[in-house]
Amino acid sequence: MWKVQLFELNYDELEIRAVEEVVRSGWITMGPKTSEFESEFQKQLDGHMCTAVSSGTAALHLALLALELEPGDEVIVPALTFVADANVVRMVGAKPVFADCESMDNWNIGVESIRQRITDRTRAVICVHYAGYACRMAELRSLCDENGLALVEDVAHAPGGTYGDRPLGTIGDFGCFSFFTNKNLSVGEGGMVAVGDPDLDARIRLLRSHGMTTLTLDRHEGRAISYDVLQPGLNYRIDEMRAALGLVQLAKLPAANRRRAELSAHYDSLLADVDGIQRPFRGYEPGVNTFHIYPVILDGRLDRDAVIVALRTRGIQASIHYPAIPEFEAYVHEDPAATPLATDIAKSELTLPLYPTMGRDKVDVVCEALADSIREAG
Ligand SMILES: *Cc1c(COP(=O)(O)O)cnc(C)c1O
Repeated sequence: MWKVQLFELNYDELEIRAVEEVVRSGWITMGPKTSEFESEFQKQLDGHMCTAVSSGTAALHLALLALELEPGDEVIVPALTFVADANVVRMVGAKPVFADCESMDNWNIGVESIRQRITDRTRAVICVHYAGYACRMAELRSLCDENGLALVEDVAHAPGGTYGDRPLGTIGDFGCFSFFTNKNLSVGEGGMVAVGDPDLDARIRLLRSHGMTTLTLDRHEGRAISYDVLQPGLNYRIDEMRAALGLVQLAKLPAANRRRAELSAHYDSLLADVDGIQRPFRGYEPGVNTFHIYPVILDGRLDRDAVIVALRTRGIQASIHYPAIPEFEAYVHEDPAATPLATDIAKSELTLPLYPTMGRDKVDVVCEALADSIREAG
């Protein structure tokens, strides 16, 4: 159907064999593969303790549950992000307070915008490394420390990324990763919580599995007969098939991220000659960027939806990161004018295809189609 899809899996025989091996082993629920995935992931994160979970949303939810927020507490979240960041705040009974982007060039949550929103009720900040560009973590960390706030890093776009030489996900109190299908590290559904504090780690592990003191595997292997429940929890476990996929994908991650960087640079050079678009984060290198997506912004005179339709007729799949949260029914009480940059960007952002197995020739095809589509829509 598509000539160029937004995303394609970076899978080959290695993933197939990894899953096959697990299925043949006869043990498919959380066990040795999951532990191996956690310890390999931990090696990339300066030893921060890692708990694998069923999704990125589960990771964020567990982080907020571990903070034991109370009704009326406030959590500052980016206005330009996937809705999960706001949803999890609502799901623990707290109030999401939206902060604006830093600028039309740096779409990450703005440190000044956060500062203006801190009240007596603020307990935490969630930051997102949009598209794989690190937030200003030094400033964010000191702002949070000065005000006694927890800092949650949503690293869904940035596994393998750094801020300076620090791995993303290790500067906040929590690093929450997603391994959803279209992420840089892809297992279908999965996630990871990384923490530096052993007490938080213990809390996350209990919350992941009903607050139970032993696992099914412990009972299977005769290490335990029963269990205690120390506190109410959830079932946010990952399974062995996904953990096995995660191990293969983790080994592929550095090369895959480098390939994304090359393709993004190729886009940059071709799009420099196309009128009507701008690209954010040009020259912004706070560390190793992970190029999760290739976002551009269309001139105000262009109708974004018309450009997406014109691309579609040319066989190119484009998308939007992200629709404005106040336009969702569940968030209509939010004022879009309070976060004007995010509102502007949400109206005119366009995401072009990008994935590590993409050929350079496909980038050429997309850029040509985009130039034509802009002419047609303009
Ligand atoms: C994908 C994503 C999530 C949610 O992750 P899931 O694994 O799909 O639950 C959260 N935040 C951001 C920024 C994301 O891109």
